[in-house]
Amino acid sequence: MQQVRDWLCASSRICALTGAGISAESGISTFRGASGLWRQFRSEDLATPAAFARDPRLVWEWYDWRRGLIAAAQPNAGHEALAHLEGAAPEFALITQNVDCLHRRAGSRSVVELHGSIWTVICTTCGEKRHDDRAAIRPLPPLCRCGGTLRPGVVWFGEPLDNAVWRQAQTALGRAELVLVVGTSSVVYPAAGLIPYAKQAGARVVEINVEETPVSRIADISLRGPAAEILPLLVS
Ligand code: NAD
Repeated sequence: MQQVRDWLCASSRICALTGAGISAESGISTFRGASGLWRQFRSEDLATPAAFARDPRLVWEWYDWRRGLIAAAQPNAGHEALAHLEGAAPEFALITQNVDCLHRRAGSRSVVELHGSIWTVICTTCGEKRHDDRAAIRPLPPLCRCGGTLRPGVVWFGEPLDNAVWRQAQTALGRAELVLVVGTSSVVYPAAGLIPYAKQAGARVVEINVEETPVSRIADISLRGPAAEILPLLVS
């Protein structure tokens, strides 16, 4: 733990790459793991373009339910510690796979959302993209002003990431001296590829996770435990 604190103090360019685990203690289920959402639901039924084409209402019911849970959740001490770190580090970037916006709500400003945001909707006909923070959308599926069907502004399985967003993430991780990898199973690509990329570019990698993951093999240090407990100890 002290070694990581020393590295944090000595590093000018720091990145954090976060996944669903950082929001677990805010009460938002992860995807994988013992109580993960994919134990209850099949991703092919809910988070793919084909699923949406087949049954947009079913997909929206699931997103509507998640929007309600996320709206009622609060950022936790892990999100807050990363927001604090951003204020203290000369150069800091937060790359997240999460779509819940809890990092921004905790005060983080330099947030790269690799998989979009659950609070964004995109028209499948005219392509208009806008913020929509209603916790309950009615009717489902919602319609655009142009009459087209709106979809959630998140990246589904099988879809490419936004080019500009991906470049931002790559640039930040390629420059980083120290990368904190927090609460991600590191099996969803291309996001998972960013960690070996940063390591090859010379960054030290510190993993914070309750379980071992593929990143544990390349991490300089793995800290085992909940992000909301460990991160505050690193930045206090
Ligand atoms: P994942 O569910 O695959 O893995 C979660 C990881 O977090 C696991 O390795 C688990 O061991 C770890 N973990 C669980 N509780 C933890 C805690 N308290 N502290 C630290 N680590 C903890 O999630 P992922 O790697 O982010 O998977 C990628 C996909 O999941 C992304 O596409 C993302 O959009 C999506 N997702 C996002 C949210 C969200 O926005 N909150 C929620 C679920 C899934």
